[in-house]
Amino acid sequence: MIPPMPAFEKIPGEMRAIVYRGVNDLRLETLPVPRIGAGELLVRVAACGVCPTDIKKIHHGTVAPPRIFGHETAGTIVKTGARVRGFRPGERVALHHHVPCRKCHCCRRGAFAQCPQYKRTGVTAGFEPAGGGYADYVRVMNFCLPGVMKIPARNSFEEGAMLEPVNTVLKAVNRLALLRGDTVLVAGQGPIGLMFTRLLALRGMKVVATDLLDSRLTLARQFGAHIIIRGDAPDLEEQTQRLTAGRGLDAAVLATPVNALVRQAQALIRGAGKVLLFAHTKRGDAMELDLSIICVDEKDLLGSYSADLGLQREVARLVFSRRLDVRPLLTHRFPLEQTAAAVELAAHPAADSLKILVQHA
Ligand SMILES: [Zn+2]
Ligand SMILES: [Zn+2]
Repeated sequence: MIPPMPAFEKIPGEMRAIVYRGVNDLRLETLPVPRIGAGELLVRVAACGVCPTDIKKIHHGTVAPPRIFGHETAGTIVKTGARVRGFRPGERVALHHHVPCRKCHCCRRGAFAQCPQYKRTGVTAGFEPAGGGYADYVRVMNFCLPGVMKIPARNSFEEGAMLEPVNTVLKAVNRLALLRGDTVLVAGQGPIGLMFTRLLALRGMKVVATDLLDSRLTLARQFGAHIIIRGDAPDLEEQTQRLTAGRGLDAAVLATPVNALVRQAQALIRGAGKVLLFAHTKRGDAMELDLSIICVDEKDLLGSYSADLGLQREVARLVFSRRLDVRPLLTHRFPLEQTAAAVELAAHPAADSLKILVQHA
């Protein structure tokens, strides 16, 4: 028997946690600090991003309470299980809460988000695992260790907390399978849209960035957009035609859940172009489409959801090298006790709000 690693710091018996108790009901409670198994980590959370998918669950009650949400999590390892190799207490890390089995029917086809194991959440602060980042400590289960990334000394916990959303965007960019020099519309320049703009620009694409907020368009320019246009500009089509010698765009990414944009994007892309839905996560959200656009014009309609563990190292390099500098995206911080207010602001963004974080210190 190898003795367990000594604790890096004194771990209290109880901690603060924001518990989802029902629709729009987030409560600050005192809970026991999670216990860990031999192959697991205990992490003291430093920062956790507020994600639109959590907001949906809190506002619509799509999952059963009680749960502790928050999955864009970074913190310090305070304890490692006896069988853990490669991690030590004191290390600053970014967590990854979903890990595919890499063996099943879906995984062999690269559709990791559809893998049954992937749907299991492996980071928890208690109750049915749901990320747990809105609590002071989380337990990282053994199957999630491959996704844990160390944060370099010069980078902040907040930058670490951004690996998960960046991963989901890089996965979607790969799904588009574009060629260098292609012209791509990114509709919506919120935090996710801005990440698309930057990652596509880094891959050598010409990005047409649209939004209705001028402040976001200015940022899109900084993030590498080739041109910025107001989403309601009457000459949007004219401008994209001019930019592509009359061909139309090669692809369009919808980073905002506006249904009318699907038809608009289909009109703006060339034959055999692609429209990718990233923000349409609400079940039952239906609309009418002319299906010949897909069949005859061969304009693909794609979706992408969640992350790809295989991209995690590339994502860490992009964020920590600041080739994708996420710092301008981080606009608002709330203390853990005010997580409900953080979720409200994320659900109803202000003109100057982008990514919102919960800070535990
Ligand atoms: Zn998320
Ligand atoms: Zn699988």
